[in-house]
Amino acid sequence: MKEENCIFCKIANGEIPSKTLHEDETFRVILDVGPATRGHALILPKNHFANLCELPEETAADAMKLARRMAALMTEKLSCDGLNLVQNNGETAGQTVFHFHMHLIPRYGDDGQKIGWTPGQPTQEELEEIRKTITA
Ligand code: AMP
Ligand code: ZN
Repeated sequence: MKEENCIFCKIANGEIPSKTLHEDETFRVILDVGPATRGHALILPKNHFANLCELPEETAADAMKLARRMAALMTEKLSCDGLNLVQNNGETAGQTVFHFHMHLIPRYGDDGQKIGWTPGQPTQEELEEIRKTITA
């Protein structure tokens, strides 16, 4: 399940070299070439799935287990103060490479990066309307 012309398919399967932190049958973990911080890494499945919704449940579960292991390893080795797990789906959400991936972004007290949003102030009625829309 590879997609022609997908750069992450080629990287994950070793056709394009990368700074690899971990490799197994299903995944490759690489250093991002445009890192937000020192040690910014990407978890790539070797098979092609465009986004989270396309990911089989078992691969999703395995990806999260691997994220946990990598987060613990990177926190220890890089002595970072925290770590963001980021995953973008769709252009509007900031996805630029349409092969599912998870970002592991080590955080340091003085890194100057911001990963976040401006909180809204919905009423209870608005929250209830949204809850009904999603669960109906
Ligand atoms: P996203 O915006 O969530 O799709 O993230 C794509 C990420 O892939 C960005 O952080 C890029 O810096 C990174 N990236 C793009 N091309 C490469 C590459 N050839 N090797 C490593 N990282 C890459
Ligand atoms: Zn791909």
